[in-house]
Amino acid sequence: MRTLFDALASGGIAARFVGGCVRDWMLGRSISDIDIAVDKPPEIVTKALEAADIKVVPTGLKHGTVTAIVKSRPFELTTLRRDVETDGRRAVVAFTDDWRTDAERRDFTFNALYAEPDGTIHDYFDGQSDLKAGRVRFIGDPEQRIAEDRLRVLRFFRFHARFGRPPFDGPSFDACRRNAATVSGLSGERVRKEVLRTLDAPGGADAFDAMLEAGVLDHWLPEYAGSTKLRALAAREEKPDALRRLAAILPTDADATAIGKRLKLSTQDSVRLQLMLDPVNAIDTTNLRASLYRLGTKLFIDRALLDAPGDWRAALALAGTWTPPELPIGGNDALALGLKPGPKVGALIEAVERWWIAGDFSADRAACLGELKRLADAQAP
Ligand code: ATP
Ligand code: MG
Repeated sequence: MRTLFDALASGGIAARFVGGCVRDWMLGRSISDIDIAVDKPPEIVTKALEAADIKVVPTGLKHGTVTAIVKSRPFELTTLRRDVETDGRRAVVAFTDDWRTDAERRDFTFNALYAEPDGTIHDYFDGQSDLKAGRVRFIGDPEQRIAEDRLRVLRFFRFHARFGRPPFDGPSFDACRRNAATVSGLSGERVRKEVLRTLDAPGGADAFDAMLEAGVLDHWLPEYAGSTKLRALAAREEKPDALRRLAAILPTDADATAIGKRLKLSTQDSVRLQLMLDPVNAIDTTNLRASLYRLGTKLFIDRALLDAPGDWRAALALAGTWTPPELPIGGNDALALGLKPGPKVGALIEAVERWWIAGDFSADRAACLGELKRLADAQAP
């Protein structure tokens, strides 16, 4: 940090930590990304850093952002900005050198805290007392701030889930409720991020119930099935997994593909969501090892946590200690017996697999080959 701030100072650039890192630091929580605000445009910032042999990546020049790499750690440096034009989805911005102007375009009071490297805090809207009180409050007029960017409705619930304590700030909540229907025009990517981070947060279940009540879920998650399962899941989980938590608030017959498309989930995540929901993948408590083999460790853990079948703690313990083995034979072994390639080979291998599972995976390769031969001979004309 010192290297970075010294280089900026040498270039005549004033810099302050801003946003999440200051907020989280004030709460004594661990800090994820470090965002830094600077009072000069990106070209000047880039020159100053390069003069000090610091690597700079032009990650978002148009928005005023460059990433400085110091000792292989990235730091985002963003020039102070003001909004020139907003349409509820995206903003056109211009650079400024006024700190308060930059603060005014941020969303919530405690997200607009700035810290100088010597620890001096700049708090333009009483963010620190809101943070202490667990009050998520829009900067300025909530109605207007939501009209500028409708994502802020979702962000309100996200930050409440993480930092808020009941009751909601009245004017902020009312504005979110009044504008609930306007979140429909947002991009799936932006919504996904807020939805998943709300689910991740300690107050996620309350936040979703409040979003339901406010009508915020009508467009993006009409499938919402209530928070009962999520609350139970959160009590069991060692660490939160947003996608698993998403599964917990959906009915088991929800269309994971449609939800994945709507929220722009990766194919992999959509498939995982589907597998977590499908009743076919429930754990068979009478044969945990066979279930663990069939589902694979990751899905087995998901289902143990989501459904809590039987002694789910024992199921989790098993997943932590026992890795399902691989079937010691394959299609080539069937061909080696002189069988012709085709669906019959697959069916034979599956029959051996069922036999091997029924024997609790104890048969070795030789025994499996023996069973394969026995079945093949029995089938031969
Ligand atoms: P997290 O730790 O969850 O990332 P964060 O505060 O860093 O929290 P980001 O979404 O990364 O949240 O945004 C960084 C900062 O940018 C916020 O603290 C806020 O000041 C500002 N910001 C981000 N999105 C918006 C928005 N839609 N409207 C207004 N300000 C925003
Ligand atoms: Mg952030």
